[in-house]
Amino acid sequence: MKLSKLASEIAESPTLALNEEARILRERGESVIHLGIGEPKNKTPISAILSSAAKLTSGEVKYTPADGTLSLKKAVIRYTEENYNRLVAPENVIITNGAKQSLFNILFSLLNPQDEVVILAPYWVSYPEIIKMCYGKPVVVTPEDGTFTPRFEDIERAVTGYTRVIIVNSPNNPSGGVYPPELISKLVDFCERKGIYLVCDDIYHKLVFDRIVAHPAYEFTKKEIEDSHVIVVNGVAKVYGMTGFRVGWVVGPRELVRVMTNVTAQTTSGVSPVSQAAAEGALNGLQSVVEAIRLQIENNRAVLLEEMKSFHGARLIKPEGTFYALPDFRAFNGNSVELARFLLKKALVVTVPGKEFGMEGHIRLSISGTVKDVTEGIARIKWALDSTSPNEIYIGDKKMIRDWL
Ligand code: PMP
Repeated sequence: MKLSKLASEIAESPTLALNEEARILRERGESVIHLGIGEPKNKTPISAILSSAAKLTSGEVKYTPADGTLSLKKAVIRYTEENYNRLVAPENVIITNGAKQSLFNILFSLLNPQDEVVILAPYWVSYPEIIKMCYGKPVVVTPEDGTFTPRFEDIERAVTGYTRVIIVNSPNNPSGGVYPPELISKLVDFCERKGIYLVCDDIYHKLVFDRIVAHPAYEFTKKEIEDSHVIVVNGVAKVYGMTGFRVGWVVGPRELVRVMTNVTAQTTSGVSPVSQAAAEGALNGLQSVVEAIRLQIENNRAVLLEEMKSFHGARLIKPEGTFYALPDFRAFNGNSVELARFLLKKALVVTVPGKEFGMEGHIRLSISGTVKDVTEGIARIKWALDSTSPNEIYIGDKKMIRDWL
C-alpha cells in the first residue's frame, strides 16, 4: 500500500507495544503491574459528572462553536485569572480536544515547512512527532550535566534564524522536574526579544510537591497578551484526573486563536458539549479534588523515594511534580528499550523506555496508581536488576527465583 511519506514516518506510541504485551500477559492470568500509564486513579469529580449529566439529559447534544462554548471559556478565563493572574478575553481562549490537540493546532498554525522548534530533553514523547506532522524540525537541547534542567545558554545556542517556537513543559513529563523561575524568566525575555513563541505546556502545573511552585511564564512579562509571545496550554486531564473527557485549552493572542479556530472548524469541529460541560463542572466545582489527587501522588512519591533508597546502582533525581520519575538505570543496561522489555518479561512490570523521551539509559516510572503498585513494582524491579537484593520474590502467588545475576 502506498502511504504518505510523512504519515508513515510518524512513530508508534511507545506505550502501545508494551501495553499490548502487558494485556496479553494479563489475559493469561499473570500478575502484571502497570507503572507505564500516566493518569490519576480518582473517579471523575462529582461536579463534572453532574454538569455533564445535566447536558446529556437535556437531550441538546449538538454541534458546539469551534473555539468552545462561551460558558467553558468563561470558566477558563476565571481559572487563568486565579492561577496566572491574567485577565484575558474570550477571544484569547480556544477549547480543544485535549492538550494534545492544543499543541498540534498551535504548531500547525505557527510553523512553515522547515521552521524549527526547540524542545528540552527529557521531553514528552509526542512533541517531536507533532512537530514533524506540521512539517517542522525538532531541535533537541539535552542537559549535559546529568540533571533534567536545561541550561539557558544551551537553549540560546540551539536557536537559529529558523526557530519559531520553544516548548517548555514544567512540571515535566517524564522527569517530574520543575524548572527554576530564573530559567523561565530568561526564556520569556529571550523569546520576546527574538520574536519566538514560548509554548508553555502547563498540564501538570498544580501537581507539585514540597511547596515547590511551577512559576507561570506570564509572571515574567509585562506585555499585554496580544503582544506577548507566551502561549499557555492546559487542560483537565491530569489535574482533575479527567483524561477520558478530552478537554484542553489554549490561552494566547487573538490572531493565533482565530487561525486555530479555523483549523479546528475544518478538521474536528468543536469538542463534544458533554465533555465541555464536564470540564466546566470541574473548573467551577470544589477544588479540593485537585488537592486530593496531589496528596495521593505526593504520598506515592514518598513511598517511591523510600523504596529507591535501597536500590543499588539506580540513580534517581527526586521528582518535584507530576506523577513520573525517571531513574537512571545505565548501571544495568544502557539500552532502555531492551531494559523495559526485560522488566516486563522477568518482573511483569510495565515501564516506558527513556529513549522515547530523549533520555537513553533511563526508565520512566509512573506513580499515579496505588501505593501497592508502587511498592510491589519497585520491589520487583529491584529484584530483577539489583544483585544485592534478595533473590527470591513472590509475583502473584508464584515464588520466583532470580538466576540471571
Ligand atoms: N502534555 C503532556 C506533557 C502530557 O504528559 C500529556 C498527556 N500525557 C499531554 C500534553 C496531553 O494531554 P491531553 O490528555 O489533555 O491531550
